[in-house]
Amino acid sequence: MNCELICVGTELLLGNIVNTNARYLSEKCAELGLSMFYQTVVGDNPQRLKKVVQEAMSRSDVILFSGGLGPTSDDLTKETVCEAFGISLVEDAYAKTMLEERMHKYGRKIIENNYKQVMVPEGQTVLYNHNGTAPGILIDKDNTIAILLPGPPRELIPMFEEYCIPFFKKRSNVTIRSIMVKMIGIGESDAAARIADLILNSQNPTVAPYAKTTQVHLRITARAENEEDCMALIKPVYHKIREKLGEFIYTTQENEEIEDVVIRNLKDKGLKIACAESCTGGMVAARLINVAGASDCLSESFITYSDESKIRLLGVSPDTIKAHSAVSEECAIEMAEGVARISGSDIGVATTGYAGPDGEDVGLVYMAVSCQGETEVLRMHSGHERNMIREAAALRVLFLVYKMLNN
Ligand code: ATP
Ligand code: MG
Repeated sequence: MNCELICVGTELLLGNIVNTNARYLSEKCAELGLSMFYQTVVGDNPQRLKKVVQEAMSRSDVILFSGGLGPTSDDLTKETVCEAFGISLVEDAYAKTMLEERMHKYGRKIIENNYKQVMVPEGQTVLYNHNGTAPGILIDKDNTIAILLPGPPRELIPMFEEYCIPFFKKRSNVTIRSIMVKMIGIGESDAAARIADLILNSQNPTVAPYAKTTQVHLRITARAENEEDCMALIKPVYHKIREKLGEFIYTTQENEEIEDVVIRNLKDKGLKIACAESCTGGMVAARLINVAGASDCLSESFITYSDESKIRLLGVSPDTIKAHSAVSEECAIEMAEGVARISGSDIGVATTGYAGPDGEDVGLVYMAVSCQGETEVLRMHSGHERNMIREAAALRVLFLVYKMLNN
């Protein structure tokens, strides 16, 4: 089925809000195997909205709408779409009860306008809203499906997950599965170039790079009759990718980050880690602490920003800093080994660099990991902006921990 998306809201046209619903819905449609061919943003204007709706009805099987379902007079999506479909609006008793209960619960007075929200297209499906007052609508008429969703993401997302994903899954007889190959330490264009043939010629499964600022994600998606057949299609392609990019891969799980993998490895091996961070200012530790149960593995973390603190807290030699400066391989090694020793941990992690924005060597970062008596050091010189340099360094050093734990 082909689909298109219409986002309604003058705020979107003026740039007052970012169209995150478009991003979310596009991604979900791709996962569901709906081919999205058009996206339109239109203001709260009934004539122009009507034109857009008519055009969409002439070319798409599924039309998704975001926004304009609220109680105010500029919220016109439902009225306009129903007019285009030739469906009249009737009051929905359950939606009315939900509205009254919700307003009562939050101590708000119902005004006449609110009742506009409980009017629904006759004979169509109401998507009851558990996170707001405006119900969504699913119209299935004359071979066209129209789905109307409320604008606020905290209402739209749960509604889409509760009603629309099961609806489309039931409707299509194909299963779609994907894996996300996540990589650190290589740029997107470099990664894409190495597997250009796979990306270009990919049909089933498809291979698509996802833009991330400090890491590279590749999604491999297959369509087949069942999950097993999907995975059988994905596997050989994944192996080809592994051959070319294996050294950068840390997971194929969508919901897994590098810190999850590191903590899991540390737990499995019963090892403890400690950090000594300069330019990353705690980002490495913060990532590790993101993971529930990090307390089993992370003993402590120092933010040693000044030279003096590197000497006093980590035992870095003043001569090392004098001879090589604090942003050096030598200093990074002494920081990593120092924090492992002082904290009594199996692994010591260190970062030291110039995050900028000023200075000659902006973007130069040294990272070191001391892992059970063996130390490795990494040099990164990137042209990113300050916070991206810091984030990249935090990811790179965690990736180095992962590599050392698995070698
Ligand atoms: P409400 O009942 O809140 O009026 P609505 O369905 O009428 O909901 P809109 O009035 O269009 O939706 O938008 C309400 C709010 O939802 C916006 O102020 C904005 O914060 C958010 N929103 C709307 N559209 C989008 C979008 N495309 N992406 C992200 N957020 C959006
Ligand atoms: Mg509104």
